[in-house]
Amino acid sequence: MPKTDDIIQVLIVDDEQNIRDGSERILSRVGFEVLKASTGAEALDILAQQIIPIVLLDLKMPGMDGMEVLSRIQDFDEPILVIVITGFATVETAIKAMKQGAYDFIPKPFEPEQLRIVVNRAAEKLRLTRDAHQLELERNRTLSDLHTEKSRLHTILESLPNGVGVVNSQGQVVLMNPAFLHYLDLEPNTAAGNQIEDYINDRELCNLIREISQGRHVDYEDIPAYELTISEKKFLQVRGRPVLGERNQCLGAVVNIVDITNIKIIDRMKSEFVAKVSHELRSPLSTIHEQLVHVLGEMVEESSKVDPHILMRAKEKTHGLISLIGDLLDLSRIEAGMIAQEPVAVKIDELLKGIVDFLATKAAGKNQSLILDLPEYELPPLTADPLALESIYGNLITNALHYTQPGGEIRVKVELLGISIRVSIIDNGFGIEARHLDKIFERFYRVKDENTRLITGTGLGLPIVKGLVDSLGGFIDVESTPGSGSVFMVTLPLKDTDEMI
Ligand code: ADP
Repeated sequence: MPKTDDIIQVLIVDDEQNIRDGSERILSRVGFEVLKASTGAEALDILAQQIIPIVLLDLKMPGMDGMEVLSRIQDFDEPILVIVITGFATVETAIKAMKQGAYDFIPKPFEPEQLRIVVNRAAEKLRLTRDAHQLELERNRTLSDLHTEKSRLHTILESLPNGVGVVNSQGQVVLMNPAFLHYLDLEPNTAAGNQIEDYINDRELCNLIREISQGRHVDYEDIPAYELTISEKKFLQVRGRPVLGERNQCLGAVVNIVDITNIKIIDRMKSEFVAKVSHELRSPLSTIHEQLVHVLGEMVEESSKVDPHILMRAKEKTHGLISLIGDLLDLSRIEAGMIAQEPVAVKIDELLKGIVDFLATKAAGKNQSLILDLPEYELPPLTADPLALESIYGNLITNALHYTQPGGEIRVKVELLGISIRVSIIDNGFGIEARHLDKIFERFYRVKDENTRLITGTGLGLPIVKGLVDSLGGFIDVESTPGSGSVFMVTLPLKDTDEMI
C-alpha cells in the first residue's frame, strides 16, 4: 500500500471529452494525478494494470454502462472509491449505485468547486483508511514483538541454572522457575500463588524476603546474602532484590538461589587439610629449630671449622616455616570459629601505642618514621579480645613497614565514627595495583614484583586480619595507588557482644 503522503491518482471515466479534460485540469491543479478513460472497457483495462484508488465514473455511457463497470470494480481485491457522475434525470440511478457500493456521487453538470470537494472528500477518506491500516500494522507488530519477547524471557528463565522466584509485596509467590523448585526440594509441578513461607522452610529468610518485597531495603548493597542449609549435603546462597516500578515504588522482590554446596565442601576440606598439615609439621620443625640453636651455640664456642652461616640460614628457614605454620593454625582456628575469648574493655590508644613502640626499632632500622596520630578527644573503650586487636594492627603496621621503602612514612590514624572506631594505617610505600586489591585477602596470595621480590612473607597475614575483623563484626577497606602508597582502614564496632572471638 502506498504511503499516505503519496500523490493520489484519480481515474476519470466519461464518454464526453470536455468532462474528461475539464476534470483533469481542475484536479491536477489541486495535486491529483489524473488518468482518463472514455469507455468502461478502457477503464477496466487500466484498473487491471494498476490500482487507482479513486474513480470518477459516468453512469451513462455507450457500450458497457457505468453500473456494469461499478460492479466489476467491486470484484477487485483492493478497495476503490467510486464517485458516480449522474445527470439530474438519473438521481435514482445514483442512489442505486450508492447501494451497490459507490462511495459518493456528483450530479452533472458540476462546478469545479463541487468536483474538488467531492474528490477531496474521497482523498481524505483514503488517507484516513491508510493511516488506520498503518496503525493496525504497527500495533500488530508491537504485539507480536511483545509476545516473542515474553516467550524468550520465559525460555531463558526456565533454562537458568540459578533458582529464580518472584514475590509480590504481600509476600505471595507469583513466579518460580524449575531450578527454584529443585533447590528447595519442592515437587516440579508445585504451583505458585501461596505465601513465601509455604515454599521456604526458614522463618528468618522469609522475613528478609518480605522486608525486601515491601521496599524496606533501598540500598541494594546492604541486602545480605543468606546461606540456607537444606541438609548436611545441600547448601544454598539466597539473594533478594527489590523489584521497582516506573515511579520507583517497590512491587515485590526477586529471589535468586545459587547452589554453593561444592564451595562449602571444598572450603571445609581445605580448612581440615590446613589444620592437619600444620599440626603434623609444627612439632618436628620446632625440634629441628631448637637443635640448630643448640648446635650453633656450641660451634661458636668451640670455634669449629663448619661455616656457621649455613646453619644460620637453616635456622632462618626453619623459623620462617614455623611462623608459616603458626599463621596457618591461627587462620584455621579463626575460620573454624574456635577462638573464643571473653571480650574486655580495651583502651585502643594504649594498645596502639604499645604496638608502635614495639615496632619503632624496626622502623628506625629502615630510617622510616612511624607516627601514631590520635584524636584530641578521649576515645571510649573498645570491647573486644586484645590479642585479636594486636594481631590485626600488628600485622597491618608490619606490612606497611615491609612494603615501604627506607626513609618512608607510616602513620596510624585513629578516629571515632559514631559507635565505631576506625584505625587507618597509611603508608607512602610501593602501593598495590588495582588488579591485586581484592586478591590480597586470599590465603597465600602475595604480589610478586620488583619491589616485593626480596621481601619474605607467608601471604597469610591479611587473611588472618580479615578473619579476625569479620569475627569482631567490623570491616576492612583498602585504598592504594601504585608508587604513592596504601591505606588499610579497619572499622570496628565499640561493642560486639554477639560474635566475640
Ligand atoms: P605477606 O606480607 O606475608 O606476603 P599478607 O597477606 O600480609 O602477606 O599480604 C599480602 C600481600 O599484600 C603482600 O605480599 C603484599 O604484596 C601486599 N601488601 C600488603 N600490605 C601492603 C602495603 N601496606 N603496601 C603494599 N603492599 C602490601
